[in-house]
Amino acid sequence: MVNGDSANVPRYRRSRGPTTRLRVSPIESGDRAREVLERISIRGDDGRVESVCDRTRSVTLAFASVDASSRAMGRLEALDCGLRCSWTERAVAAGERDVAERTMARRRAEDLAIPGLTLIENFVSVDEERALVTLARESGEETRLARRRVKHFGYAFDYGTRDANERCEAIPSLALEILKRLRSDMIGYQSAIRCDQVTVNEYPRGTGLAPHVDTHSAFGETILSLTLEGCAVMEFRTSAEENRALFLPRRSMLVLSADARYRWQHYIPHRKFDNVEGETIARDDVRLSYTFRERRSGPCMCAFPMQCDSRDGAESKCSKRRAGKTQEFPELVGE
Ligand SMILES: [Zn+2]
Repeated sequence: MVNGDSANVPRYRRSRGPTTRLRVSPIESGDRAREVLERISIRGDDGRVESVCDRTRSVTLAFASVDASSRAMGRLEALDCGLRCSWTERAVAAGERDVAERTMARRRAEDLAIPGLTLIENFVSVDEERALVTLARESGEETRLARRRVKHFGYAFDYGTRDANERCEAIPSLALEILKRLRSDMIGYQSAIRCDQVTVNEYPRGTGLAPHVDTHSAFGETILSLTLEGCAVMEFRTSAEENRALFLPRRSMLVLSADARYRWQHYIPHRKFDNVEGETIARDDVRLSYTFRERRSGPCMCAFPMQCDSRDGAESKCSKRRAGKTQEFPELVGE
């Protein structure tokens, strides 16, 4: 939540039509705003207090959808408690103006046409999201990288060698439990449910992830990434010239297998606003991700020798050099 006194206040303008945001006034504090939000929210509508403006004694409530904000507006009016409520939308700030020129992220994985790329929306419920976030905050041992906080479960990931061989705190059972709902006819299903290494990353707003392919020889054929608390855009590339972008909503599970896992580098650009199908979307204050991987050993048998560290592929050599260099700059290394 942003307070009206801070330098980084989002700016809003009145909207004639329905939007996902409501401006409510007069409200004098964040606590009072949360109390009101509590009374008008329906479970699952994902409402949050986005900003509080002391000067105008107003708050902005943001919802996951126009349906959700409409329901909240209806309930607020029914309460008849003297609060004014109107639709509002974010005004474009100076830093957002070039957003339209960024690679446009798609909402459907199929639109990227990368074999093995799958996005499963609403993979966990709101309650499970809350439980997984609490688990991540309360258990495990924290590693502080320059720009984000990381915890490993099952086995610790080694940022120098880019594999995971040292046992650490067990993977929380809820995290393993949710993998069972993957469809058994999905490509890479067997590898997914054999997951024995979990990495939890906490990305503050504006922080991304450097381009990488997860080490072929160290991890199995399926990599999964669960997005919690805040959205992000993940980009994919096979060369510097071409990239494709996918919007990752809260509570979605991204599955990387085949080309998406072995051949395409994935990364999250360091930025605060994304272009999602032409619309400017502000990232949330924080995104928590769970990455699920299966450890493996022995030479990799993948169909992508150029990118394979196990067969000394030309492109993987570059990434090894990068891995060596990034020992000094651990924030640049992937999850
Ligand atoms: Zn390989």
